[in-house]
Amino acid sequence: MTLKSPEQKTGRLVVPGERLGVIEEFIPDSGTYVKDGVIYSKTVGRALVDLLNKRVSVYPLIDRELVPKVSSTIVGQIGNAQSDNVLVKIFKLGNKRLSGEFSGILHISDVSDRYVDSMTDVCKPGDIVRAKVISSKNRVFHLTTNDKNLGIMYAFCSRCGNLLEPQRYELHCPKCGNTENRKLAPDYGKKPL
Ligand SMILES: [Zn+2]
Repeated sequence: MTLKSPEQKTGRLVVPGERLGVIEEFIPDSGTYVKDGVIYSKTVGRALVDLLNKRVSVYPLIDRELVPKVSSTIVGQIGNAQSDNVLVKIFKLGNKRLSGEFSGILHISDVSDRYVDSMTDVCKPGDIVRAKVISSKNRVFHLTTNDKNLGIMYAFCSRCGNLLEPQRYELHCPKCGNTENRKLAPDYGKKPL
């Protein structure tokens, strides 16, 4: 590695929590944090590695507008599910695709105005959901689908993985014949992602 081009590693896109180096190598600068001697990115941005001064920093890439806020409508994918909540990987804010990665939590009490016995009755890992942010404390985005335009946009058969088709009040798998339930968005299966 030559010190003649100090910005040769400039510009790599990084996400929060991404490893940038160790403190033996670099001085952590803006947009970074250190844990157990390892330097990580604090934000979504471009990593700037200054080899001359041995500094590493991250320049935020996205403007503030592209961070989910309270009352933002988001689109995400259902991730790990517990009996009373699921994680949602947020990838769209309004109609804009996010370059960053934000996670939300959908709690069972915020799914619907009807009583929900178990999260698996209303969504399953892999489903695509439209939801609204109700709180963003500590950058944890708490979500709701309790509104008529919110809910699951695309759902996949938990037996065979095929896209489920709406059939009256249920979803039906055209491949294996399975029927499942979800809290559906009114435009289920219609809106391109
Ligand atoms: Zn199926």
